[in-house]
Amino acid sequence: KELTEQTIAGIKDTDKDISAFITVNDKATKVAQKTDEDGIKGPLSGIPIAIKDNIVSNGIKTTAASKILYNFMPVYSATVLEKLENAGAINIGKTNMDEFAMGSSTETSFFGDTHNPWNLDSVPGGSSGGSAAAVASGEVVAALGTDTGGSIRQPAAFNGIFGIKPTYGRVSRWGVIAFASSLDQVGVMTKRVEDSATVLSTMAGHDYHDSTSSEKEVPDYRANLNKDMNGVKIAIPKEFWHEGADPAVIQQVNNAIDVYKKMGATVEEVSLPTLKHAVEVYYVLASSEASSNLQRYDGVRYGFRAKDVKNIKDLFVNSRSEGFGDEVKRRIMLGTFALSAGAYDAYFKKAAQVRTIFIQEMNEVLEKYDLIMGPSTTSAAFKIGAKIDDPLAMYMNDILTIPANLAGLPAASVPAGLANGMPVGLQIMAKSFNEQAIFNAAYALQ
Ligand code: GLN
Repeated sequence: KELTEQTIAGIKDTDKDISAFITVNDKATKVAQKTDEDGIKGPLSGIPIAIKDNIVSNGIKTTAASKILYNFMPVYSATVLEKLENAGAINIGKTNMDEFAMGSSTETSFFGDTHNPWNLDSVPGGSSGGSAAAVASGEVVAALGTDTGGSIRQPAAFNGIFGIKPTYGRVSRWGVIAFASSLDQVGVMTKRVEDSATVLSTMAGHDYHDSTSSEKEVPDYRANLNKDMNGVKIAIPKEFWHEGADPAVIQQVNNAIDVYKKMGATVEEVSLPTLKHAVEVYYVLASSEASSNLQRYDGVRYGFRAKDVKNIKDLFVNSRSEGFGDEVKRRIMLGTFALSAGAYDAYFKKAAQVRTIFIQEMNEVLEKYDLIMGPSTTSAAFKIGAKIDDPLAMYMNDILTIPANLAGLPAASVPAGLANGMPVGLQIMAKSFNEQAIFNAAYALQ
């Protein structure tokens, strides 16, 4: 209870500057008190954790940072949250994000910007920018994020923390507000690798409610942590070094890779020629899936409803027109177009085919190597306002993080020093369901 009270007091103070939270859980202290009374429940007993606001929480407002869900009160909790709470974790509150997780800067939130704790004029990245800022500023030790095209790893890099997106299927998506269902995955953001390992082991595993969740056994990642990098084979895709990256970022990433060489790892250059199409493929597929997933927000079933409407069509049209922000509308239009009869073959189907080629390319590399490494992002955090009016520049941000989502692979961003005073991330990808290899490599660098 004391820890929860202190955490809430800390958030009240720090959040004046960074605005990481949309909602602070006013029931948290009560829950913590009950936890004290009941005794240790599990490995996270009494530990306050922040939850991205697209993960539904029973009786606690969940908005996905959208006006269309501004007053949505869920009647159940996402499986990931339920598992954490069963292990004793305290849901301390819901963090800010890009609307429906569409964005890379947390600037598309209906609830305003979050500020990067390293420099308040800079974005925290996105879409899990609130979770990243909450951890980096010390408000919480751990936060959940979601990653569809980089939304855990990019903000982790921008805030100098560790963020991991597990293998597609490692974690249940039940109760996670859907953006692009073939890409979405919940993951963990922390400062320490050990803490992340504990949280992921706790929330991973098969869920009857999500048929894409895997039945593979969940390892105890923390108990198996191992810093030995001797003989580990690391692949460096040369395209990751040629996508307009800032030389100051590249230098830090190269330094981190040199550390692994000194620890006895072998490092070799490889090629992922299809990487150059990854952004196009992602934005066609993710927008198509989003246009379908977001059909349910019609002003009838959830959240915001337009006033003064004369008929049911106006109710749908006005609720959606007034309830969604510009970026979400852009994705719905792009996706609806890509799925339309005249465009399906040229866009959706083509993108799906290129995705398959890309998956093969990644898996071929991982047949020969244990890990793929590169920068997490092409630059450090940019200034608030710098890219929000230029969607293409914003989309290009994701070029280095999208590959892992397209291929469903586990991937993380690990702090790798500073470039001009702002944090930089080393990205580490591994074979499907080999999160342990990522934890170990991150632990070795920590
Ligand atoms: N920035 C990407 C997008 O806008 C990725 C978002 C995410 O991973 N949720 O789609």
